[in-house]
Amino acid sequence: MATIDTLDLKGKRVLVRVDFNVPLNDKLEITDDSRMQAHLPTIETIFAKGGVPILMSHLGRPKNGPEDKFSLKHLVAHLKDISGREVFFIDDCIGDSVVNATKDLGNKSILLLENLRFYKEETSGDTVFASQLAKNGDVYINDAFGTAHRAHASTAIIAKYFESQKAFGRVLQSEIENVNKVLLGGEKPTTAIVGGAKVSSKISILENLLQRVDNLIIGGGMAYTFIKAQGGTIGNSLVEDDYLETAKDVLAKAAELGVKIFLPEDSVIADAFSNDANTKLWASNEIPAGWMGLDAGPNAIASVKEVLLASKTILWNGPMGVFEMEKFAEGTKAVANFIAEATTKGAFSLIGGGDSVAAIKKFGLAEEVSYVSTGGGAMLEFLEGKTLPGIKAIIG
Ligand code: AMP
Repeated sequence: MATIDTLDLKGKRVLVRVDFNVPLNDKLEITDDSRMQAHLPTIETIFAKGGVPILMSHLGRPKNGPEDKFSLKHLVAHLKDISGREVFFIDDCIGDSVVNATKDLGNKSILLLENLRFYKEETSGDTVFASQLAKNGDVYINDAFGTAHRAHASTAIIAKYFESQKAFGRVLQSEIENVNKVLLGGEKPTTAIVGGAKVSSKISILENLLQRVDNLIIGGGMAYTFIKAQGGTIGNSLVEDDYLETAKDVLAKAAELGVKIFLPEDSVIADAFSNDANTKLWASNEIPAGWMGLDAGPNAIASVKEVLLASKTILWNGPMGVFEMEKFAEGTKAVANFIAEATTKGAFSLIGGGDSVAAIKKFGLAEEVSYVSTGGGAMLEFLEGKTLPGIKAIIG
């Protein structure tokens, strides 16, 4: 794999696609800088190897060219603080003035370019725009996992202007290495927990994981489509009737491949989608009309515990219930705790994608698992088995 370690950076202008798409409040203050922090190892490695980092990123979704609230200038002071480096900012990302600035930096300072998405050519993947960006560096590093599933000018198209002078930064490198620990055969038994709202948004992940895991725990709202497909009664629980046949196919394929499927045998059911609803514990396949399953029940949690504590490789994507509501958070909280416990006992655990990342952070367990992915949509596509454009562009 082409990483920063494989390139000679001495005296080079190292153009790095970072993901500085941080949340800003009304006063344009950064409310969570974890995306910026994540790139510091890449930046420091570039300095250590004698290169000069030139950083480019998007921020938010500007619609019609430059807009002050989306300017990367709002990040400069904080980047100085956390990097301990001089940071220069230039209010464009292409053109002669930018190229000149890249050549005039010394070897101790960072140059931050203006928001790539001030040009619509960025997201359309325009070749001319990509070639103009390419003039800003002698070497190209892609470190933006969050946009690696997009064939944008700065994430994919640009790479062709660097032939062998391109590589993954530390963030992208560790995302790839960690996901591959699961997808390319981790220590067995391997267990995937897939939850969340909809079968339709997770079906490609389920199909891909079936080929690779020993146990597949299906939870959250999507479990009820499977339970209905098996002939169960699910009351008013979330269901996608269009996906009943697909659910049956997944179950049949699992049986064929010898993958053990776990569906919640019991649920916390509620008479409304509300934290104030009346609730009771019930068999998931006999839910009465007017009631809906909103969380895993105690028997389901006990089964999940047994599987997870016996697993050596664990992947978690999607909550077990409506964890945003206190009343229906127990299943998700329990899974987070079992994964942490399994990790302490030596399992490799990866938390990948959107809401399970939010959940593990909410329960304060992010440090207790092996790896928490930084990319939402990118991670989902990765788990689907797709080759992401931003990765393909580097690998060639
Ligand atoms: P996803 O984005 O597909 O991973 O789905 C995450 C969402 O699924 C969260 O907002 C959860 O509240 C929701 N969810 C989880 N379990 C259920 C359930 N049993 N019924 C309805 N929504 C659920």
